[in-house]
Amino acid sequence: MSDVANQSSELLDYNLFTTCPALVDAVARDAGAAEHDRLVALGERLGRAEMFALADAANRNPPVLQLFDRFGRRRDAVEFHPSWHELLKRLVAEGLHTGSWNDTGPGAHAARAAGYMLWAEIENGTQCPATMTYGAVPTLARQPEDFGEWLPLLLSREYDPRFVPTKHKRGALMGMGMTEKQGGSDVRSNTTRAEPAGARGPGREYRLTGHKWFFSAPMCDAFLVLAQAAGGLSCFFMPRHLPDGSLNTLRLQRLKEKVGNRSNASSEVEFDSTYAVLIGEEGRGIPTILEMGVYTRLDNAVASAGLMRQCVSQAVHHARERSAFGRLLIDQPLMRNVLSDLALECEAAVVLAMRLARTFDTGDDEAEILLRRVLTPVAKYWICKRTPGVCAEAMEVFGGNGYVEEGPLARRFRESPLNSIWEGSGNIMCLDVLRALAREPRAREALEAILSAAKGRDERFDAFLAKLSTELDSTQDVELRARKLSERIALAVQASVFLTHGPATSAEAFLATRLCSGPPGAFGTLPAGVNQGALIERVFRV
Ligand SMILES: Cc1cc2nc3c(=O)[nH]c(=O)nc-3n(C[C@H](O)[C@H](O)[C@H](O)COP(=O)(O)OP(=O)(O)OC[C@H]3O[C@@H](n4cnc5c(N)ncnc54)[C@H](O)[C@@H]3O)c2cc1C
Repeated sequence: MSDVANQSSELLDYNLFTTCPALVDAVARDAGAAEHDRLVALGERLGRAEMFALADAANRNPPVLQLFDRFGRRRDAVEFHPSWHELLKRLVAEGLHTGSWNDTGPGAHAARAAGYMLWAEIENGTQCPATMTYGAVPTLARQPEDFGEWLPLLLSREYDPRFVPTKHKRGALMGMGMTEKQGGSDVRSNTTRAEPAGARGPGREYRLTGHKWFFSAPMCDAFLVLAQAAGGLSCFFMPRHLPDGSLNTLRLQRLKEKVGNRSNASSEVEFDSTYAVLIGEEGRGIPTILEMGVYTRLDNAVASAGLMRQCVSQAVHHARERSAFGRLLIDQPLMRNVLSDLALECEAAVVLAMRLARTFDTGDDEAEILLRRVLTPVAKYWICKRTPGVCAEAMEVFGGNGYVEEGPLARRFRESPLNSIWEGSGNIMCLDVLRALAREPRAREALEAILSAAKGRDERFDAFLAKLSTELDSTQDVELRARKLSERIALAVQASVFLTHGPATSAEAFLATRLCSGPPGAFGTLPAGVNQGALIERVFRV
């Protein structure tokens, strides 16, 4: 038997939080120093080998559709591997789903975002129901007379996977149904019909008939669903059990065979006179469900930053232990350039995601609310769009081992495009940036106010801002230019945070490569003179 030599070890049992100074600093800035100790403890728990093992098991043993019981009665249920349940139990116990609605401290949403970013390093399928539950809370809280009894269940720290009527549950999770076969981005094309069972209006019972082409986490206890009522597209609350405890009519058709995100079930479903309760007014379905969408988009940006960070950490760890041509990979100048460039991209993603999360904590501060309006689609677009490139490059650091399913990169690479696709695909996000700027001119003022804080510190940044301002002023071909504009707003915000808060090494490398050298190309093109070790240590310091 040959000896095994020059293979790197598993990266396990380390503190996910303290090894990421970029996130530690962002938490101090955007969530407050008081959150530090809690995140240190969380980072230690999440970095344990058993967490990595649970995540692998949940993704190697995907959920199974159970349409009927053995007697032929409909069940419309999905069975999950025990590792899925164990992961969700821990996620809910940590309050990473809805904790920031319970803890209303000054940096609650940003602190949750930091924790959620750490969870994203471990497992992403579980984040689907967690995020939808997080986003549903504010929508349901607007109608406490109808949904008040659900709120304690959604805020509960107890994961209760039993498929039983709500009155027996100790905790509940939520999903959503918007996308239909003929259209997902353009939800106005929804054909699912809603008929009032009696009187119409908010809180009243309706019957829905139609289908949803993507309906994830169908074992959730209830869903926000769009359907056409007489007054137009409307948002409904659809529980899996009826108030009398019997099963509601959600006919699961099949589960999607997905590229990644395999621990999570994504179903196709049909409704046949299915019980649901109207949320808000008839015809106000899009704004009602979009309130949920703002939170889910924040989570997409946060989770993609976490996914990037785990891939970069794995790559750096491997390069520190693997030699080629007589030197460790990490000491090969070109590989060092690749790793430090990846680390810089990851730090920039952490910075932008956390700055966005801060806008969710600012109460009535109008400038921050306006900033949130424009920064949410910007960050969702740009961070999610950069993620597959980072994951692919990190995979290549492993050479052939990177492309093997047993390794840590394969699952994450398959996951990496998803956050860009759902919850508003890339183009939809960029068009939303235009809509935010056009409909609310003060959103641009709020954006320019935070950017101007960094003005005068570097000529390259000032020139970039001046050009961005001209590009934003022009209405010519604006839809065609929406991606470029969104990208440049993201880069400007990232650069402004680096310039005002440092570190100087990251600021210098970012300005030199992201603001001044044309379109972002392959990673590994930082100029000579950059302190590459310092960049790497910002996202993975051991
Ligand atoms: C794993 C997974 C789970 C999902 N789970 C759910 C779920 O639980 N609930 C749910 O409701 N949905 C879910 N979805 C659906 C997802 O949100 C939609 O797929 C997504 O919104 C895009 O809709 P679509 O697939 O109909 O594509 P389309 O709307 O047809 O879009 C196709 C492409 O065209 C682009 N495009 C659309 N309009 C324009 C335009 N005006 N200008 C330029 N480009 C445009 C889009 O950006 C996209 O790239 C899930 C999707 C996946 C992959």
